[in-house]
Amino acid sequence: MTLRACIDIGGTKVSVSLNDPVRGLELLAHQYAPTARTGDNDALARQVVTMVDAACAQLGVEPMVVQDAGVAAPGPFVLGPGGIELATPNICGALAGGDARLPNDWRTATLEGPLRRRFARVRVENDGIAALEAERHWGALQDIDHCAYVTWSTGVGCGLCVGGVVLRGKQGNAGHLGHTFVSDDTQAVCGCGNVGDLESLVGGNSIHKRFGESASTLMARAVAGDAKALQLVDELCRVMGRALYDITVLLDLQRISLGGSVFLHNQELLLPRLVDQLRGRLPAMTDGCELVPAGLGDRVGDYAALALVG
Ligand SMILES: [Zn+2]
Repeated sequence: MTLRACIDIGGTKVSVSLNDPVRGLELLAHQYAPTARTGDNDALARQVVTMVDAACAQLGVEPMVVQDAGVAAPGPFVLGPGGIELATPNICGALAGGDARLPNDWRTATLEGPLRRRFARVRVENDGIAALEAERHWGALQDIDHCAYVTWSTGVGCGLCVGGVVLRGKQGNAGHLGHTFVSDDTQAVCGCGNVGDLESLVGGNSIHKRFGESASTLMARAVAGDAKALQLVDELCRVMGRALYDITVLLDLQRISLGGSVFLHNQELLLPRLVDQLRGRLPAMTDGCELVPAGLGDRVGDYAALALVG
């Protein structure tokens, strides 16, 4: 028996499940835990190994039957001596632009190195890239060679594919769409320290900071017909839609699959407004590009790590 570990690391929680290749897409023995943030900077990697062991115990199998680990993790990544380490501001307390209240002084969290000591095969990818791979395997981007997956959630990120090749970049960080420049006419300060990044204007956290209410409350008021809320939603979609336009014309894309909690919970409201930002603008390039909801819906995250070991 051979099982594969599907590991999804987020800023607030880690989820681990196992997959038996003969049982298709089924994810077994789900384990969830708050992301480790204390101790040495290998604490997160050790947490992942412990959670895989717990999943094996739940299934009544020996931990050593798991030798493949797919890991979807938030960037940015840096390459250390053992491979990919996380330099994620909401995990590592010593990073500029990070949360000063974090209970650690990590500059990075080691990940790939410790995991390679436990598993025979390890693949770590940025969560946007991993989700793109899942959408290309099983979702809305199957057989599409020029495409992107964009998540609109607490933050904003994406995975990009051109000519059938998923773009990774020099350290696996390609697709940090949330940290691209949108406007300097704003006080919006991004988690990375920049002013006017996409994420600082439309990310779920930023919506709360800018407008004093959660994205879901704002969207609900807009759906109910509140004129002021509709105006704010129009403005959010103008900014987000232009970012989608940017990647469409930069890469000559055929299709963009959209996910993330802000988008998925409000897609009837948001999708037509985002499409409006592409239609009629440089139609030679945008006419041939579709915006569609993620085919895997809110399960993109679950399958992202599986796509890395599939
Ligand atoms: Zn930024």
